[in-house]
Amino acid sequence: MANYITKIHRRMRLAQLVSAWTIGLLAADLFGQAAYAYEVTFSPSSPQLGDTVAVVVQSAQSASAGTGMSAPTASAPTVSANGMSYQSFSIGGDRFQSLIPTSPLDSPGQLIIQVSGAEEPRSLTVNLSDRTFRTQRIWLPPGDNDLGTDEEFERVAAFKRLVTPERHWAGPLLRPSQGYVSTEYGVQRYYNGVFAEDYYHRGVDYAAATGSAVVSPAAGYVRLVGEETNGFELHGNTIGIDHGQGVLSIMIHLSRIDVKEGDFVTAGQVIGGVGSTGASTGPHLHWGLYVNGIAVDPVPWRDAGFE
Ligand SMILES: [Zn+2]
Repeated sequence: MANYITKIHRRMRLAQLVSAWTIGLLAADLFGQAAYAYEVTFSPSSPQLGDTVAVVVQSAQSASAGTGMSAPTASAPTVSANGMSYQSFSIGGDRFQSLIPTSPLDSPGQLIIQVSGAEEPRSLTVNLSDRTFRTQRIWLPPGDNDLGTDEEFERVAAFKRLVTPERHWAGPLLRPSQGYVSTEYGVQRYYNGVFAEDYYHRGVDYAAATGSAVVSPAAGYVRLVGEETNGFELHGNTIGIDHGQGVLSIMIHLSRIDVKEGDFVTAGQVIGGVGSTGASTGPHLHWGLYVNGIAVDPVPWRDAGFE
């Protein structure tokens, strides 16, 4: 049943990606001269909660360089979505990309995307669809949820804020473990019968044997290594990888760590072993994929990928 649903889901996503909208024309200024205006496209065309919305901005400036108009080198525009600003980065030629994260905590409805910079600003509306996430009911004895140290939380939070300009991924991300998915992204919880407003499962869990390989889903720099014996009570042994342009992976509950901070890892490189360190009830890998600080659904990144 789960497989069947996954297949339908994948087909829908491919259709969404193929039909990305294109918006953008040269605008005319008050004097009737053509002004430069960004061309903005986004995908998927019908995003739902948890999706990453890729906004691609084509600069008109350099593209017009041969027409005799003055054409300074294109500079990166700023992209905002519902008032939050996101950096954009060059993805080659005169094109820039900004990755807008969404999560189960967002409200479905209109996402107002605004692009501003050296050229005519643009605004477009994207409809963010609702999505049903599975719920779990968890019963905890009082005082059983205070694991985690300040140092652990601060280092993990600092890692999640990283946004660096160079893009290290190419094509779809790799599956980081050969284990089966035991808990999917976005699952929501009731604790002792009360809905946890701020909680959602911020990643995908793969159940696998202790010590089995964990590979990096894409290339990047190791920017976080935390050990259970060094205060990482909640996450256990942890590796954080910066894939660039605001895209990060965090791997937690590891049995062992094969890399150190500052290492550059390649896609598919073994970086550690599946474990059950930290707050974990059995051996599994938790892989969190963060885009500009928000845990997004890794499934679209594994299926079709992002440019
Ligand atoms: Zn998990």
